[in-house]
Amino acid sequence: WAALAEEFQPDVDAALAEEEGPVPVVAVVGRPNVGKSTLVNRIIGRRQAVVEDKPGVTRDRVSYDAVWAGRKFMVVDTGGWEPDAKGRAAAIAGQAEIAMRTADVIILVVDAIVGATDVDEAAAKVLQRGKKPVLLVANKIDDQRQEPEASGLWSLGLGEPFPVSALHGRGSGDLLDEIMKLMPEVPEDFGPKEGGPRRVALVGRPNVGKSSLLNQLSKDMRAVVDDVAGTTVDPVDSLVDIDGETWHLVDTAGLRRRVAQASGTEYYASLRTQGAIEAAEVAVVLLDASQAISEQDQRVISQVVESGRALVIAYNKWDLVDEERHYYLEREIEREMRRVAWAPRINISAMTGRAVAKLAREIRVALAGWEQRVSTGELNQWMAALIAAHPHPIRGGKAPRILFATQVDIRPPRFILFTSGKLDPQYVRYVERRLREDFGFVGSPISIQVKARE
Ligand code: GDP
Ligand code: GDP
Repeated sequence: WAALAEEFQPDVDAALAEEEGPVPVVAVVGRPNVGKSTLVNRIIGRRQAVVEDKPGVTRDRVSYDAVWAGRKFMVVDTGGWEPDAKGRAAAIAGQAEIAMRTADVIILVVDAIVGATDVDEAAAKVLQRGKKPVLLVANKIDDQRQEPEASGLWSLGLGEPFPVSALHGRGSGDLLDEIMKLMPEVPEDFGPKEGGPRRVALVGRPNVGKSSLLNQLSKDMRAVVDDVAGTTVDPVDSLVDIDGETWHLVDTAGLRRRVAQASGTEYYASLRTQGAIEAAEVAVVLLDASQAISEQDQRVISQVVESGRALVIAYNKWDLVDEERHYYLEREIEREMRRVAWAPRINISAMTGRAVAKLAREIRVALAGWEQRVSTGELNQWMAALIAAHPHPIRGGKAPRILFATQVDIRPPRFILFTSGKLDPQYVRYVERRLREDFGFVGSPISIQVKARE
């Protein structure tokens, strides 16, 4: 195997070098109707023939590729939500918080003709406290005569307002130049950090019991710790003790602050969920066991899988599950959860505290699977046996062969198979299934990339 590994090393290096590194992210924040979408279109539209949603990002979060002065970056439009009037200030504050967690540069768009409103001020206050560079855009300055209107926005405390007409393009080139200046050379890695307590996101559709579980965890398991040596905890996070270990729960403010949640739309909640998942190493998806598994539940699970985080599925409200419901639930799980059959499952009740302590055990199992590594030697030996017992079906007189396999990454595990031709997707799924059967990878999504050698 050593000789084979040496032979394929250049191919492995080439495959890894081909992959694009992360690009800086620019988030556009602002209340409805200030011109966020118009500005985003201005930034990406005329300069890029194809506007496409980023694959792997949930459809609720609108991210676009953009280029300016030869630099690639990503623009995230945080628009698309319409909270009721009462909840607007809270919702926009939450939106700004999400942007601070997920972007390298933040643009706060304000309607300069209307002037700064309470809602704009709420967003500005959050952004002032953060460390991210913020660009204040005074939009709807359609001609020079309106320019004095922009200076009224100094009061937001975010420095000089940048006058722009997103609609007509006035000032947009200068704005892009300014964004480039603020963009870091190397984008921040928003993924889970190494070291410190393990990072956990509690997610799920509304009313499955996330905040109840959080209360249960912070109440029964000793008090919430304020700080642990050597870690920095965002003010929106909590540290809790479960089963003798300290855990870092991500974005619990989103669970505690009921106002913001209630007044935002599903879109807003989904954005928040995505942010929490990305900041975490492992996500606990809560389902309401007393109700049928819904499309919305499936969507949250997909968010976790697509983000490449470890997954634990907690069936909550188990106190409401009687014998009949139990029977149907098991059928539903068999039918609808097959694609994540690898995820540890736990039946809990956030209300009674049932099995809540056991949650930590399942989280540990999932994290171990997420970090599991199989050596190249062992993998290829195993692969040879698999191929011998179950060869690839013949296509057009030939069967593609797997020449060499290697695990190139963990968190989550990632494999590359070098082959002599294209593999059937079905065969790749078979390989994945057998990998899981023989090696585990419990609780983790795994990816298998196939590279056909010419
Ligand atoms: P969003 O809700 O913040 O995404 O706002 P939109 O981009 O949908 O814009 C809201 C409205 O403001 C639309 O009718 C736009 O045409 C208009 N608008 C956006 N930018 C400008 C601008 O620079 N000048 C003027 N006059 N109108 C604008
Ligand atoms: P969230 O929207 O996911 O944060 O859900 P909540 O924690 O606000 O819970 C929604 C509702 O479900 C509340 O009325 C809770 O009291 C109830 N609930 C949460 N967990 C349980 C549970 O384990 N058993 C029962 N019977 N009710 C629960």
